[in-house]
Amino acid sequence: MKLRTNVDLRTLNTFGVAAWASQLVDLEHEEQLGDIRQWLAGRTALILGGGSNLLFTRDLTEPVIRVCLPGKSYQIDSSSDVVRVVVGAGESWHGLVMWALAMGFQGLENLALIPGTVGAAPIQNIGAYGAELADVFESARVFDLAHGTWLTLDAQDCEFNYRDSIFKQARAAHWLICSVTLRLRHHAHGDSELQLNYGDLRAQVDAIREAKGLGSSTQAICPQEVAEAVIAIRTRRLPDPARLGNAGSFFANPIIGSERALELQARFPGLPAYPVVSTDPSGQHGPTMKLPAAWLIERAGWKGRRQGDAGVHTDHALVLVNHGGASGQQIRRLAEEIQRDIRKLFGLTLTIEPRVV
Ligand SMILES: Cc1cc2nc3c(=O)[nH]c(=O)nc-3n(C[C@H](O)[C@H](O)[C@H](O)COP(=O)(O)OP(=O)(O)OC[C@H]3O[C@@H](n4cnc5c(N)ncnc54)[C@H](O)[C@@H]3O)c2cc1C
Repeated sequence: MKLRTNVDLRTLNTFGVAAWASQLVDLEHEEQLGDIRQWLAGRTALILGGGSNLLFTRDLTEPVIRVCLPGKSYQIDSSSDVVRVVVGAGESWHGLVMWALAMGFQGLENLALIPGTVGAAPIQNIGAYGAELADVFESARVFDLAHGTWLTLDAQDCEFNYRDSIFKQARAAHWLICSVTLRLRHHAHGDSELQLNYGDLRAQVDAIREAKGLGSSTQAICPQEVAEAVIAIRTRRLPDPARLGNAGSFFANPIIGSERALELQARFPGLPAYPVVSTDPSGQHGPTMKLPAAWLIERAGWKGRRQGDAGVHTDHALVLVNHGGASGQQIRRLAEEIQRDIRKLFGLTLTIEPRVV
């Protein structure tokens, strides 16, 4: 186990804010977990993946474990088109998506270009372009750092929801995801069930085909083309953290009762609202709708504004950015002001999506 002290975290978080870790270890093999437990001696560690969903507002005096566990393996079920892929938590998520496509495995194409590691994907049930991790998740192998025990959690155990899972609960504070098993499809085996109904995804696929002279082709759309379209849209719309620090969407889209959503739509013409499929089997809470937080923020006049080097992106009101020298505290203060205005104007609470440390 290699322990590093006084580690600069500026390049280990995509906001690029300054923060220091007093002690950090890179977890490269599961065999190191015993030594790491001894080193922790009961302390709670901060588990770090790619740092793309974290906002550091202070230096870290708690121990930090940076997850670098590698590995990809797969098993094709000969009686069906199912392929099970087991991936080390430290692998790059986007790298996995590209690898799966090259192998002819389908199911991850809509989730292309999401930054970060595979091990962090279940934490907020990553999602984009009409797909989410839960659609393909089979299980996660988890090490409990407090008790030194192993757990295998299936999709039901993980309690996946919109940008949420059991891993965000207090009882999971000592759980380290070491690998994830996904259930994909081998598309060489049959027809593709592609998700193309989200936003302008289909139009982007058509535009790419047109540009390649395939406009009149009757050949079925393949998962690679979907990924290509997703990458094109994301590259156009989202700032690249290597050039402009950010953590993607800073707020989750509020989900509220349908009646309340309709009231708000009457007060604010043009406010979009999308019905949400209920995950509540009792149906106790009635129908709900999702409102785009970006619309609310723009309507409240925050799009493109900046306070020093902390700002709201000029093209995407949901993305808070670091123009260079912003501290995590400045970004958090900006977020709090936005939350306050949204509460005043719409009576809604915006939840912060990245973990604020
Ligand atoms: C430009 C940009 C676009 C983005 N787009 C999307 C998007 O479309 N959809 C989406 O859902 N997200 C998006 N995100 C957010 C982010 O990419 C994801 O949440 C990603 O899964 C975070 O991975 P990470 O490895 O960087 O996690 P980190 O930021 O390092 O950690 C995030 C959380 O997970 C915990 N964690 C990390 N690894 C483990 C592990 N192995 N075991 C236990 N806990 C762990 C950390 O303690 C922390 O609480 C975007 C971010 C950026 C910068």
